Amino acid sequence: MAKPKVATTSLAGCFGCHMSLLDIDERIVGLLDLVEFTSSPVTDLKHPPKEGVTVGILTGAVSNTHNIEVAKMMRERCKILIALGDCATFGGIVATRNLAGTAACLRRAYLETESVVDGLIPGCPELGMPLDTVTGVGDVVKVDLFIPGCPPSANAIYYALSELLAGRVPVVLPPEHFVYD
Ligand code: SF4
Repeated sequence: MAKPKVATTSLAGCFGCHMSLLDIDERIVGLLDLVEFTSSPVTDLKHPPKEGVTVGILTGAVSNTHNIEVAKMMRERCKILIALGDCATFGGIVATRNLAGTAACLRRAYLETESVVDGLIPGCPELGMPLDTVTGVGDVVKVDLFIPGCPPSANAIYYALSELLAGRVPVVLPPEHFVYD
């Protein structure tokens, strides 16, 4: 029987959530017996396969128009979508931009910063235009499972994937997965 396929992609964020996925350590070997990883920053394949995957994982917030396109493509091509990490769940650290506003942040970064010479605010639609408000993934597509944390622990990710492989979609992860030190 073909293994269930998993695809992962980053939106606006750091790669801490993917590092936490790798932190599953040796258990990832057992996981690879059970699932096939398709697109991900680890395999360096950019898009989930057209024929679809069982589980899609998005990390990072929705910060620009390109993020929306990527999130919609993942949603269309997966059966179960996981928003992994605080950024994907509610905007996380990226959403602090909302406090000052996108225009003010761009102005400060590209025009007013002390080291700027001949400043210019970038604006290339092909690269994605910044949105006025940073949001979590659930604000643009339906999400089946949220796993908060910055990053979520490897155990939380492993638990969620194990449950999904057993045919269960955990609505809420057990509280021990949300203890941070
Ligand atoms: S939730 Fe934290 S670790 Fe994950 S992408 Fe955002 S900032 Fe990085």
